[in-house]
Amino acid sequence: MKGREAEMAASLPTQLLIGGAFEAGAGAPVPVVNPRTGAVIAEIAEADAGQVARAVEAAGRAFPAYAALPPAERAALLLRLADAIEAEAEDFAALEALNCGKPRPAVLRDEMPAIVDCFRFFAGAARCLSGSAAGEYLAGHTSMIRRDPVGPVAQIAPWNYPLMMAAWKIAPALAAGNTVVLKPSELTPLTALKLARIAAGILPEGVLNVISGRGPSTGQALIDAPGIAMISLTGSIGTGERVIQAASASIKRTHLELGGKAPVIVFDDADIDAAVAAVRDFGYYNSGQDCTAACRVYAGAKVYDRFVADLASAVTQLRYDRADDSENDIGPVISARQRERVGGFVARAAALPHVEVVAGGRDAAGSGFYYEP
Ligand code: NAD
Repeated sequence: MKGREAEMAASLPTQLLIGGAFEAGAGAPVPVVNPRTGAVIAEIAEADAGQVARAVEAAGRAFPAYAALPPAERAALLLRLADAIEAEAEDFAALEALNCGKPRPAVLRDEMPAIVDCFRFFAGAARCLSGSAAGEYLAGHTSMIRRDPVGPVAQIAPWNYPLMMAAWKIAPALAAGNTVVLKPSELTPLTALKLARIAAGILPEGVLNVISGRGPSTGQALIDAPGIAMISLTGSIGTGERVIQAASASIKRTHLELGGKAPVIVFDDADIDAAVAAVRDFGYYNSGQDCTAACRVYAGAKVYDRFVADLASAVTQLRYDRADDSENDIGPVISARQRERVGGFVARAAALPHVEVVAGGRDAAGSGFYYEP
């Protein structure tokens, strides 16, 4: 391990935040892996059923007082969170790069400012929650729509943008006066657990709880918890089905961001260089692990051959194996399992009579979970 990585490994955040206190998970240990090397960087015990229940109770206890805070006070808390994250942006970026295999300069440049801004944006939004259609719809009575917080929200995040997804979930929920139990992906819990350390010094006890663990155990216990008023998931369609089932038992609200496949159409009169550059960037950024990844292209007959040849050449030039991380365009995919899935898609496509693999399409050499673009 290099000096900086060894230092980070010694101070990795592994504890859960439940009701303002830090504690180790009481469930099974879950290995956290560096996708660049395949090495285990930490074992984090997951939250067991009792800890999930206590986290939900803590969020429930904190809710009435937090919901009653005036918008200005909620906004001030979110602004302090933003400042604190910004002050540690370098460390957050290093941790995210370690846990996801992303190039660290890309996290620092592309993700950290957006994460900080998300908290600042929702600090502003806390002050201007809109209600519409106010008026005297019944003589002598004024009717209006106002937006109130719903209560403790279970938030479940994926591994492709761990801290950004946590920010997208936490900031709006807290801005509106809800309390939160966040479960990051068991593959990438480190930045959310680091955020918990910061939040514990800023937010009132129990307003944000962070528990780590796998989906079928910790996640399922969380979405089934009776004290949860709403479930927010970013993840796969299968997990979305489970959330809807869990929500139906007690009519919880749901917010689901599930899988996507973004198509691109290249017309015969398109600027081919621009189209190639766009698909190279938006199809392969983050190693293609984006719900908005441009991963299906329909090209007009007149430009088809040139487009295919130029795109093949462009993606072959994507850099992922440089020792200097600032020279890398992409990293590995997140896990051995995910690389097998990607390889499976390519193998099934290649077995079709009309499909030809024109670039990459196999595991890269070495121990990390790299796949040739
Ligand atoms: P996943 O559904 O397996 O996991 C996502 C989260 O759900 C993880 O935290 C996981 O532990 C949890 N989970 C799994 N089973 C659960 C259960 N039974 N109860 C509660 N929680 C459970 O998805 P993944 O493979 O880790 O993530 C990739 C998926 O996320 C892809 O389908 C991708 O398209 C999608 N995604 C969508 C968006 C979007 O904005 N639409 C953004 C990022 C990722």
